[in-house]
Amino acid sequence: MDFTFPEAAEKFRLEVREFLKKELTPEIRDEYAHCTDYPHGFNKAFTRKLGQKGWLTLTWPKEYGGLGLDIWHRLVFDEEMAAAHAPVAAHQVAANFVGPALIHYGTEEQKKKYLPPIARGEATWAVGMTEANAGTDLASIETRAVRDGDEWVINGNKMYTEHLQDADYYWVLVRTDPSAERHRGISIMVIDMKTPGIQILPLWTMDGYRVNQVYFEDVRVPADAVLGEVNRGFYHLAMTLNTMRAAGLGGWTETRRDLEDLVLYAKQTKVNGRPLIEDEWVQNGLADFMIHNQISRLLAYRVASMLESGGPAPDRETAVRQVWTKVYGQLHVKFACDLIGMGSQIGHHSPQFAPLAARWERRYMGAIAGAHNGGTPENALNTVALRVLGLPR
Ligand SMILES: Cc1cc2nc3c(=O)[nH]c(=O)nc-3n(C[C@H](O)[C@H](O)[C@H](O)COP(=O)(O)OP(=O)(O)OC[C@H]3O[C@@H](n4cnc5c(N)ncnc54)[C@H](O)[C@@H]3O)c2cc1C
Repeated sequence: MDFTFPEAAEKFRLEVREFLKKELTPEIRDEYAHCTDYPHGFNKAFTRKLGQKGWLTLTWPKEYGGLGLDIWHRLVFDEEMAAAHAPVAAHQVAANFVGPALIHYGTEEQKKKYLPPIARGEATWAVGMTEANAGTDLASIETRAVRDGDEWVINGNKMYTEHLQDADYYWVLVRTDPSAERHRGISIMVIDMKTPGIQILPLWTMDGYRVNQVYFEDVRVPADAVLGEVNRGFYHLAMTLNTMRAAGLGGWTETRRDLEDLVLYAKQTKVNGRPLIEDEWVQNGLADFMIHNQISRLLAYRVASMLESGGPAPDRETAVRQVWTKVYGQLHVKFACDLIGMGSQIGHHSPQFAPLAARWERRYMGAIAGAHNGGTPENALNTVALRVLGLPR
């Protein structure tokens, strides 16, 4: 097997590194490390700079503001951004979730209106699927949209929407035909956040991360707010979720960077006069962590190569990758906290007193809360059991 990236992509890697060296200022790094509203950093000005270079939409067709490049360029970009801890929250939903869905299902007017601002890094989007009674089982959503002349009137509520406090647009799943079989009466709608009738309330996860509860009261949107076919939204969503799960393929580099810092910490920190790294359990734990990180890298490359070859959606592979990252992610943050000891309990609000700037305390909390984000590991395990291993239901 050859894991060498194409020459053009490796050349691009140097360009991205050079850019990040210059543009990722200590202030932006600091914001990324300590802001809890956005664990992956939110910086509109930085996102706009990426947009000016066309790097948010590297693989989109040129007619929609993309650069028409291959997946390896995108992977290189994701890897360098993640390794450098560069902020992505101002654009990742728009560029990696909403944009591809619009390209696939949008009308020409919708594409002309929404895609260029996403490509330029000027528009922030949030996605509202989850409700109090519909998380994993999204076909249970209850938020209703009723047709009234040239408009739809939306009533109901959503839970756990991230980024909405700064979003320009909200991409939501609504029930448009309550009499239809539950998967068949759902549509996707785009709501301009300036529309009256939307109330958002913060909801904090255990790692102090802000998500939102959202209430719609007679929110009126035009008829053309529907994305794709009316009542086919559930099926459009299934395709879009596959795209989303294939995003963030460079995430393993962020973990690798953290792991390298942890190895250094184990070498430099003495307990009872001996460097931690000399303890066998530390050596085994670090080796285990490194092996799992390397496997995460290979799973990411597998998904990328499937996307590039234009074959079937890598849904099984993304499920395996999801299980791997989420389940092992939780084991490794625990190991890291054990290694750091009592100091790992000092929270990220006091980074000056904590080993490794309290990063692992935050990772520990985040690994538990964040496991739900984008689908739970149990759900991914079901996919692996049914579709990869062929086990009976
Ligand atoms: C940090 C964060 C950010 C989020 N961002 C967004 C966002 O921007 N937009 C959005 O719409 N949603 C968002 N979510 C919501 C997320 O997608 C849901 O939390 C997730 O889909 C799980 O739904 P639920 O919380 O209702 O749990 P449930 O579906 O009620 O599940 C509860 C538990 O039961 C298990 N379970 C459920 N069904 C099965 C089954 N069939 N087999 C085995 N186990 C099962 C689950 O794995 C879980 O452990 C976010 C969540 C978090 C934590």
